[in-house]
Amino acid sequence: YTPLAQLDPEVQNIIDKETWRQFTGLELIASENLTSLAAMEANGSMLTNKYSEGLPNARYYGGNEYIDELEILCRKRALQAFNLDPAKWGVNVQPYSGSTANFAALTALLQPQDRLMGLGLPDGGHLTHGYYTAKKKMTASSIYFQSLPYALVPETQLIDYDGIAAQAKIFKPRLIICGASAYPRDWDYAALKKTAEKEGAWLMADIAHTSGLIAAQTLKSPFEYCDVVTTTTHKTLRGPRAGLIFFRKDLENAKDLEKRVNDAVFPACQGGPHNNTIAAIATALLQVAQPSFREYAKQVIANAQALAETLVGHGYKLQTGGTDNHLVLWDLRPLGLTGSKVSTICDLLGITINKNAVSGDASAQVPGGIRIGTSAITSRNMLEADVKVVADFLHRAVQLSLLLQKEAGSKLLKDFQRVATVQEEGKVGFAKV
Ligand code: PLP
Repeated sequence: YTPLAQLDPEVQNIIDKETWRQFTGLELIASENLTSLAAMEANGSMLTNKYSEGLPNARYYGGNEYIDELEILCRKRALQAFNLDPAKWGVNVQPYSGSTANFAALTALLQPQDRLMGLGLPDGGHLTHGYYTAKKKMTASSIYFQSLPYALVPETQLIDYDGIAAQAKIFKPRLIICGASAYPRDWDYAALKKTAEKEGAWLMADIAHTSGLIAAQTLKSPFEYCDVVTTTTHKTLRGPRAGLIFFRKDLENAKDLEKRVNDAVFPACQGGPHNNTIAAIATALLQVAQPSFREYAKQVIANAQALAETLVGHGYKLQTGGTDNHLVLWDLRPLGLTGSKVSTICDLLGITINKNAVSGDASAQVPGGIRIGTSAITSRNMLEADVKVVADFLHRAVQLSLLLQKEAGSKLLKDFQRVATVQEEGKVGFAKV
C-alpha cells in the first residue's frame, strides 16, 4: 500500500486545495451538504472493487454474499428513514445519481414518446423533468418523451395547481412530476393526486432537495399520494452522491411496478451498482434515523428563515417573500444585477452560491437571481445568530457588486480584483476585503 500523497502528489494536492476551500469558505449552495466522515470512509472502501449486476440473491457475478447483505440493509434503512411499510413500498438503492434515478423512473413508467408534465426549469424545476428550449430538446426527458412544463402563479409565485389541472385536462399526460430544484415552499401533493387520478396519470415526486427535511418530518410527505418517489442522497439527506427510487408495491392496477423499476435501473439504464456508494448511503441513513438528524433538519429551516428575514430586513426581494424549506431565492432584478455577476463576486469573497432563474425570467440561461441554501452551514453547526452574520456578508457582497457595476473599468475594480486574488491564495480573509 502506497499512500495517495506519495503515489500521486498531484491529485493529493488538488484534494488538499478543495478541502481547504470547503473548510475556509461559506458553502451556501442549496444542493450541497457535508456528508459524515463515516459515510466517506464507507465510500472509499474495498467495496469499490466488486461487480454485482442484478439484485440481492439474483446476481450475474459470484462472490456477492456480503454485497447482498449490504444492499438489503441499505433498502431496509431507506424504507425506515421515510417511515414506509415494506408491504406497501419498495426501494431501489442502485441509481448512480438523481438524474439516472429520474430517467430510470421515466423508463419504468412510460413508453417512448409518452407525455409528461413537470415544473418548468425557469420556475424552479429540474432538467430531468422534461426540460427543453425553443431551440433544442437537450435533456433525455424531452428527447424521448413529449413534455409540457407547468408554471407558477405570477402574482403569488406559488405552484399553479389549478393551471396544472387545466393543462392536464387537454394534454392528457401519462405522468405528472412534482418536486423542484429551486422552490422555497412546500407542495400540495393532495391537489396533484386529484389531477393525476382524474386524468389517469402516474404521480411521481422528485424530492431530491427536500428528502432530509421530509425524512425528519419537518415538511409534508409525498408518500401518501405518489406512485413513485425519487431522491438524491447528497442534498438535505446528507449522504454520498447517488439516487434512490421508491415505488408502490400495493397498486392493484400495477402489480408489476417493482419489476418495472428494477429492470429500468438495470439493465435498461445502468450497469453494475457502485457498492461503495450503497454502503455510504446505508451509513448516512443510519444517521438520518438518529434524533440529532431531526434537530439538524429543524435548524436548517430555522436558519433559512433567519436568512430570509435578514435579507428582507435589508429591503431585498425574495421569491414568495420567504421560505418553508432549506433555500431562499433572491430576486436581483430590482437592483439591476444578474445572478452571474453576484455569484462571481461571491466566489471571489469565498462565499459559494449559484445563479438561478427567478419567477418571470424570460430564460433560464440569463438568470435574474441567486439561490442560497442553509444545509451545509447547518451541518457546520451554525445557528440563527450566525446566519444573520452570513446574511450581512451577502448584503455587503451585493452592495459591492452594485458598486463594481457602476465603476466598471475603474481603479476600484482593479484594486478589488487584486485583493480578491490575494484572498483566493489564502493570504487575507473576507473581513479585510
Ligand atoms: N432532481 C432534482 C430536483 C435536483 O435538484 C437534482 C440536482 O440538483 C437532480 C434531480 C439530479 O441529481 P444529480 O446531480 O445527482 O444527477
